[in-house]
Amino acid sequence: MLRVENLNVHYGGIHALRGITLDVEEGKIISLIGANGAGKSTTLRAIMGLEKPSKGKIIYNGKDITGKQTKEIVKSNLVLVPEGRRVFTNLSVIENLILGSYIRNDAKEIQKDLDWVFELFPILKSRQEQKAGTMSGGEQQMLAVGRALMTKPKLLMMDEPSLGLAPLIVKNIIEIIKKINQEGVTILLIEQNAKASLEISDYAYVLETGEVFMEGKGMDLLNNEEVKKAYLGT
Ligand code: ATP
Repeated sequence: MLRVENLNVHYGGIHALRGITLDVEEGKIISLIGANGAGKSTTLRAIMGLEKPSKGKIIYNGKDITGKQTKEIVKSNLVLVPEGRRVFTNLSVIENLILGSYIRNDAKEIQKDLDWVFELFPILKSRQEQKAGTMSGGEQQMLAVGRALMTKPKLLMMDEPSLGLAPLIVKNIIEIIKKINQEGVTILLIEQNAKASLEISDYAYVLETGEVFMEGKGMDLLNNEEVKKAYLGT
């Protein structure tokens, strides 16, 4: 579904990505793990057209989308929930969700997806009229994911959806990611909790200083001694 080939990104003099190659197979959950600054966010941002690669290719459903505009990429049902709860704080919960669907014109399906989002996140249903900025951190994160779902993604990329949230809510978000995937949405995930993300991942890539340092099935990486020591704290 998605293939990233020899992706390089520079920020001025900083060579942030040094030839990242990865594959996302349709229907799977794939995660990127790695230390701070390894290049995880930059990888997702480059796929989304938010950073310009200096070299390399991004192929989505057989089409070269390297250098394409973000809005074009969203139209092809590839969407990113960026790090840090980017919701429209002055708008209500329902307004934020409806905004997610602005590129669509299938009213019936939009209502169905709204019902689905409310089923996944009941709190959003009961707080529809509340200003997003007054929601708690965890609630805003749910809203950010809900809004992304309203674009009807085929491939949903999430950058640290549980950052800064209480352990119980982290578990909840991980469960919800699984549910979203079971509904047929392919997931490319960055998650600070490497153990939780590897547990639900079909395949994962370990990034180190802008390169793929290791890759493998989620379960295999969970049992890998190097990964355990460096990323799982065991
Ligand atoms: P984290 O887990 O801390 O978010 P990450 O793996 O997502 O880390 P990136 O945010 O992709 O890492 O950063 C990769 C490298 O690029 C880092 O050295 C970072 O300082 C640098 N970098 C990221 N964004 C910019 C920017 N806008 N300008 C300059 N350097 C940047």
